[in-house]
Amino acid sequence: MSQAPFAERLLAWWDRHGRHDLPWQHPRTPYRVWVSEVMLQQTQVATVMPYFERWMARFPDLPRLAQAPEDEVLAHWAGLGYYARARNLHATARRVMETHGGELPADPEALAALPGIGESTANAIVSQAHDRPLPILDGNAKRVLARHAAIEGWPGRSAVLRALWEAAAVRLPSERGADYTQAIMDLGATVCSAARPACLHCPVQADCQGRISGRLEALPGRKPRREVPVKRRYMLLWRDGRGRLLLERRPPRGIWGGLWCLPEDDGAAPLAERFGLDPAALEHLSPVEHRLTHRHLRITPLALCSEGEEERATDEGLGWFSPNDILELGLPRPVLRILDATQ
Ligand code: SF4
Repeated sequence: MSQAPFAERLLAWWDRHGRHDLPWQHPRTPYRVWVSEVMLQQTQVATVMPYFERWMARFPDLPRLAQAPEDEVLAHWAGLGYYARARNLHATARRVMETHGGELPADPEALAALPGIGESTANAIVSQAHDRPLPILDGNAKRVLARHAAIEGWPGRSAVLRALWEAAAVRLPSERGADYTQAIMDLGATVCSAARPACLHCPVQADCQGRISGRLEALPGRKPRREVPVKRRYMLLWRDGRGRLLLERRPPRGIWGGLWCLPEDDGAAPLAERFGLDPAALEHLSPVEHRLTHRHLRITPLALCSEGEEERATDEGLGWFSPNDILELGLPRPVLRILDATQ
């Protein structure tokens, strides 16, 4: 039996199971849809709803948003995060007052030229506010399309993104553009969820290539993890007979700038040489892993205990600290882990 088109099945499902009572749907004006789309860019519907209501109570239309002081705009955004979105809404409102006579353009290209509005957001606004079928690729639509068309690869890659735009375009209906946009977002949010798609309840399961081929786990593709280089470091864990520990203050700039730290180097021999120690007397303990943004540190502690009160290693920038003194210092996290493991 041949299938009804994707859009027809999706719209029939949405009529029965979709979300019809979202605050920006009543009335679905360009201004309200625009504000909701920007709020929803990084935030879930449930979180957005009370912010949207408060926003509309204070800035009920675009001219009143344009006239408001920026501090007040930001105060109405406080808690939603990614504050550039609020600044962009404000900047766009002012630009629209100056160059578009106070009306948001109904042309997606003109909209996408305004601050904070990308191609997908522009299409989402025009399709909902003017009921025109236009493709969108927000996170939910991307997931549904990557799975339904079995488009492999990370959507951040341009070839993958192009394939997704094509998949979005060929599935569009010829009418009911506003409902269709809401429907594909709703399907992604409620049925084709990231963690556990409920394929049995999905209106487009019969020809979902990702489901049929059993590759759902891999769709959409994840961002490739960047390989971070591993750097080996050695830290001298030298305690004297009174239980004091040798620490060194780091230079003000660079990693752990200005903090007290175990003396460190990129080899055991240079550390031993620097302090006039016998390398064979240093006990190599289990390495501690520490991840930084651009590299991974594998730190090997070199343990040494000397007798009596140590009088060596008293140069400027070095100090012997009792366990109580150490509690007062802010030490780098991997040093704390080494100390915890060797108490
Ligand atoms: Fe998503 Fe499953 Fe529907 Fe395919 S069948 S679109 S994977 S919910």
